[in-house]
Amino acid sequence: MNTPTHAIVNLSLIGKLPLSQFNLPIVIGGIIPDLPIFVFYFWAKFVRKLPESQIWSEAYYQPLCQNAGALFHSIPLAVLGWIIGYYGGWQTMQILYLSLILHSLLDLPVHNSDAHRHFFPFSNYRFISPLSYWDREHYGTIVALIELLLVIIATCNCFSFVQSVVGKGLMLA
Ligand SMILES: [Zn+2]
Repeated sequence: MNTPTHAIVNLSLIGKLPLSQFNLPIVIGGIIPDLPIFVFYFWAKFVRKLPESQIWSEAYYQPLCQNAGALFHSIPLAVLGWIIGYYGGWQTMQILYLSLILHSLLDLPVHNSDAHRHFFPFSNYRFISPLSYWDREHYGTIVALIELLLVIIATCNCFSFVQSVVGKGLMLA
């Protein structure tokens, strides 16, 4: 799934504007798992100056990039983070890790050849979904359309939070 989609959908699913102090950790948690991929792309494109085709067919599959992606997309490690937040009484940390978990859960059904090891470091298992969010050979066009719809629905959902808060504000005024 595209990174901005994660931020918007996570915000829509676990965010509530009255609890706006949690919106930033939700957005950050929605983006963090893909950070190693951004760093890798920047390095491959602008430092190594590799062609686009080589970046995604070879360099992306090097162990360092794959392990970083697996670490940041690890569901058990994110659950561990949430548990630490829960027992420490740190609500922001819980929300952040909840958003990380949701990112991985939403990635699971839409990654085919580029599937992450979501149970790393305990298992190297990859769920190879028959669907892909980008690969046309695995329904990428349909999945991209559904993703776009999700973004629109999530944005409307976020917008309705704004309306309800503004509405309450007007009633109080
Ligand atoms: Zn991801």
